[in-house]
Amino acid sequence: MARFPRSTTPRLLYTLFSSSKTTPSHSSSPSPTTALLLGNFHLQLRQFSAGGNLARAKEDKEPWWKDSMEHLRNIGISAHIDSGKTTLTERILYYTGKIHEIHEVRGRDGVGAKMDSMDLEREKGITIQSAATYCTWSGYQINIIDTPGHVDFTIEVERALRVLDGAILVLCSVGGVQSQSITVDRQMRRYEVPRLAFINKLDRMGADPWKVLSQARSKLRHHCAAVQVPMGLEEDFEGLVDLVQLKAYHFQGSSGEKVVSAEIPADMEAFVAEKRRELIETVSDVDDKLADVFLNDEPISATDLEEAIRRATIARKFIPVFMGSAFKNKGVQPLLNGVLSYLPCPHEVSNYALDQKKNEEKVILAGNPDGPLVALAFKLEEGRFGQLTYLRIYEGVIRKGDFIINVNTGKRIKVPRLVRMHSDEMEDIQEAHAGQIVAVFGVDCASGDTFTDGSVKYTMTSMNVPEPVMSLAVQPVSKDSGGQFSKALNRFQREDPTFRVGLDAESGQTIISGMGELHLDIYVERIRREYKVDATVGKPRVNFRETVTNRAEFDYLHKKQSGGQGQYGRVCGYIEPLPPGSPTKFEFENLLVGQAIPSSFVPAIEKGFKEAANSGSLIGHPVENLRVVLTDGASHAVDSSELAFKLAAIYAFRQCYAAARPTILEPIMLVELKVPTEFQGSVAGDINKRKGVIIGNDQEGDDSVITAHVPLNNMFGYSTSLRSMTQGKGEFTMEYKEHSPVSHDVQTQLVNTYKASRGAE
Ligand code: GDP
Repeated sequence: MARFPRSTTPRLLYTLFSSSKTTPSHSSSPSPTTALLLGNFHLQLRQFSAGGNLARAKEDKEPWWKDSMEHLRNIGISAHIDSGKTTLTERILYYTGKIHEIHEVRGRDGVGAKMDSMDLEREKGITIQSAATYCTWSGYQINIIDTPGHVDFTIEVERALRVLDGAILVLCSVGGVQSQSITVDRQMRRYEVPRLAFINKLDRMGADPWKVLSQARSKLRHHCAAVQVPMGLEEDFEGLVDLVQLKAYHFQGSSGEKVVSAEIPADMEAFVAEKRRELIETVSDVDDKLADVFLNDEPISATDLEEAIRRATIARKFIPVFMGSAFKNKGVQPLLNGVLSYLPCPHEVSNYALDQKKNEEKVILAGNPDGPLVALAFKLEEGRFGQLTYLRIYEGVIRKGDFIINVNTGKRIKVPRLVRMHSDEMEDIQEAHAGQIVAVFGVDCASGDTFTDGSVKYTMTSMNVPEPVMSLAVQPVSKDSGGQFSKALNRFQREDPTFRVGLDAESGQTIISGMGELHLDIYVERIRREYKVDATVGKPRVNFRETVTNRAEFDYLHKKQSGGQGQYGRVCGYIEPLPPGSPTKFEFENLLVGQAIPSSFVPAIEKGFKEAANSGSLIGHPVENLRVVLTDGASHAVDSSELAFKLAAIYAFRQCYAAARPTILEPIMLVELKVPTEFQGSVAGDINKRKGVIIGNDQEGDDSVITAHVPLNNMFGYSTSLRSMTQGKGEFTMEYKEHSPVSHDVQTQLVNTYKASRGAE
């Protein structure tokens, strides 16, 4: 069964990427055996690529789009900072002919003077700023999708990851698996993204790819093996031996553009045989077909091995490890070949949409361009020509001039201009089909919106946006940065519907609310980093709610008739809890008979009760599951007014609230933990201490998977404490489940704290 990734927001439950189909989309054709010292390097690259099956005979039965879909890869590149992601991206664009010279990102490794930060920014801008860059390699289209630099699970990160079909994880051969490598890898695992690893910087002093590989096994728990071995290391790093094709590759020319294939050096034969065997054994562990051949001691051909690696990688049971030095222009072209050979094409990954006509029932999208259009706006960019919206098409075709429907807003719009992005340029196109990533201009939408042709009402993410569960007061330190500060908040709200901004009526402070501590931390950090605004933040507060448990009568007369225009209004009735499972949180019913209160005042009464229910008197939080019934009252011919009745309702609510036995509700989170079994006891004990209820405890290999319901109020700082309890090996996800009543002593404590804080004001 596909495991649905969990996160702090219920929406993330619907993240896709269960790669169910594992059939290889292309058979491999062996690389050329002759040395490729040809003049024209583009021609040469094409010939060099493995898996190039341009000449594959097409069967007539196959649908028209199959071939172009098979020649498409949507990938991301993720890395710990400074591992060489920018350098690698730039080399990829260079070898694929998208940029015509290499701009060096010089700096920390003693390879030249450090560029000033503006230049560095510009440099990075060229390659990775656009949300999706398109290039071609060996007849294949590759979209490189930028994965956000901030590394945690907000809806924005989720969207960027869900449009990837595969990824390259860059590791540094000196630094090895670092903290951020663990985080980005965990995200990709959560979103079920098949991946390749690339151990970069083999030219650096202290480079040790085998140490890094073993760290990937122990720290990232990758089932992985090298598909290449280096010839020489550090200063002597010369090239790579391909363990599948059994060829040695040298990278020549001023920018490594000439890939020269040669025989394996004699002194490396034994080592190569050992590493090839290790590769075969590792893949056989997870691929029955290869295991059969291997166990029967039959010879394993390059094609057998390549196909098995592809199956296992797409099934996310194996990670092939590539090596090289992006900076020294070595190993990038074979890595690109690896992307074609081992990462899935769009229709090898299953995706789901939610049918809004059927209560968000999941529908599998076959990825068929002949189907009805379904496209997700996954990223917005403010460009020179207005808003640029990046779309991933999941099904159907989109054409310039088409009318499409934004399912989230119901708006029908015309596609004025359709483009494909190449690093910093764009190309106008007439149409694009399922699997592709394109950008549209002048379409007003929020990121996360889904577009269709109107024949279906599918969305790629849930329309039920959960209520935020935690809030925080933030304020810019300097008044001058107010403009940037509100710009940041506006943008985040547009990108993430679970992030809200409000004003505390009493203190006048800006309050941000979201799905948890981490969620809010990320935004505060982004305000600092991306908008350069230093902000002071208050203590995060859990969004408690209040509710009533009993029926209580009210009879309140609001009367002020001393001089001038008087006020007069009397309201009678009762409040009571709504029956469980009610779809609304507040209900108002008018059971007045006769003309005790003129009907024109009734809306003001309803408004008054609603307003009063915004802040219960236990701890000042909103009161929900409340029904107000108005049965009687009185009015005055001259002094009654809307205001008088609204105030009467507010006071009436306050008068009867205590008699309705109010209780405090707190958010309960569904927490899923994965920890090495040795830590299971202490982690479960800690959950109990946090008043959590363990509802499941399963074994998954060497890990224990614990599921529990835990009050959010007891989860502050949990990531740090889990890290220390499990030596950094445990991970957890958390999502909102429900609000439920707090225990009696917690209620007393909360009420006393609230009273004390009010007293102090
Ligand atoms: P990013 O932060 O992951 O995008 O990393 P960059 O591409 O900006 O690279 C960080 C630093 O490492 C820069 O100084 C690069 O020149 C350097 N670098 C990148 N790849 C290599 C490599 O293969 N070998 C060496 N020696 N340095 C590299």
